[in-house]
Amino acid sequence: MESIRNRFFWGGSEDKRRITWIKWKAVLNTRQHGGLNIGSFKALNLALMVKWWWRFYSEDDNNIWKQVIKAIHGLNGGLISGTTVRYRGNVWGRISQIKDVLQDTGIDLVSLFTDSYDDLSRTSTRVQWSLEPDGKYSVSSLRNLIDTNTLVSSSMPTPWDSNVPIKVNIFLWKAMRDRLPTRDNLVHRGINLPNILCPLCNSAAETGRHVLETCSTTSEVIAKLHLWCPLIPPTMTAYEDWITTTLLPNGGTSKEKMLGVIVKAALWGIWNARNNCIFSNKVSTPNVIVRQVKVLAFDWIKTRVKEIPVATALTHRGILVQNVCCQLCDLAPECSKHLMVDCNFAKLVWGWIMTWCGIQQPQFSNVQDILDFGASWGNCPKKRKTLNAILFSTLWNIWRARNDKLFNKINASFSKTTDHIITQTYEWCKHRGDIDRSEAEWYCNPF
Ligand SMILES: [Zn+2]
Ligand SMILES: [Zn+2]
Repeated sequence: MESIRNRFFWGGSEDKRRITWIKWKAVLNTRQHGGLNIGSFKALNLALMVKWWWRFYSEDDNNIWKQVIKAIHGLNGGLISGTTVRYRGNVWGRISQIKDVLQDTGIDLVSLFTDSYDDLSRTSTRVQWSLEPDGKYSVSSLRNLIDTNTLVSSSMPTPWDSNVPIKVNIFLWKAMRDRLPTRDNLVHRGINLPNILCPLCNSAAETGRHVLETCSTTSEVIAKLHLWCPLIPPTMTAYEDWITTTLLPNGGTSKEKMLGVIVKAALWGIWNARNNCIFSNKVSTPNVIVRQVKVLAFDWIKTRVKEIPVATALTHRGILVQNVCCQLCDLAPECSKHLMVDCNFAKLVWGWIMTWCGIQQPQFSNVQDILDFGASWGNCPKKRKTLNAILFSTLWNIWRARNDKLFNKINASFSKTTDHIITQTYEWCKHRGDIDRSEAEWYCNPF
């Protein structure tokens, strides 16, 4: 069972070679002990069986099943003294022997029930489970204790940031332990490689520290990110410290959260650029990587903040945007409602899009209105799907026009934006197999 999970875990990662980079018994452990909180099946099974002990001690004596057990195995159910259990091979026999199994892992099961042996067998006393503050048995409390005693522990806790995706946390965890499949690490594990140079700069051996810290491409990316957001230090020193110091046990302020997200997006973006070089032969310049890092950071924040973090929200979160005025009209503070609905640029685009669709333009007062309109429009599911694609594409392209202005100093163009929407939605719908028309026909009317 564990070997299947182990193979799946490592096989599912980007390194197809079957190398176990970290002992499975270390991976299963809790994050405080350097693992990924997966937990072992063995501990789970044992803890589930101990639940029967809890039921036997805590439930009412009039329960028929309890009376049956007592009739067969004696007053204490044979739990305390295993020798009194008859039929050792049957289910209850196995349950009673758990304490011996746990003894081998250094756990004295009987002592975890806070009343003594004699008290346990009396009906008047209340039994408490000492691992939970409320005194009630929980499978997870015992499972964790068994895992702590039997799994491989590390003194380095796993850095974990709930503001970034799980795959990124796993990547950072590997990076912290120098277990990334860098060329240097692969060679050390006996893989033959034609060269061990860093694919980003081609001038030094590719170690984890090189790619994530000293590589010239990495330095350039960090320097550019520093210009964008001065909270980021201008040069990268000790990437492990970056990961752990931006890890805030109590959540931290929004500013600190943002910083943590950007730092992690930077490391992830650099690693992805490195993978693209190796696996797709795609070379990314520092500028391209920086743009990807911004998009990633934006995406991760957006998913968690559940709103479009336009300038007002970003300023709230400590990202320094010089101008909190709308990038597109300069007439109002930039918030998602203004940018997507009230801004003159947005109004023009929406007006044109609705005319193109042949839909009487509804009155939108915020972004939610737009999404609600799409969700309930018409009575043909296929057409509704198409309209939703168009609505999303419009929101996306207004956002893109705003970013082009902010990051690339390109003025928003009405015709470019509407052209993008037409092309993008045509591609989406064609890809889904929803349309069999030419793009020219699509251009005239999408329905
Ligand atoms: Zn390099
Ligand atoms: Zn505006």
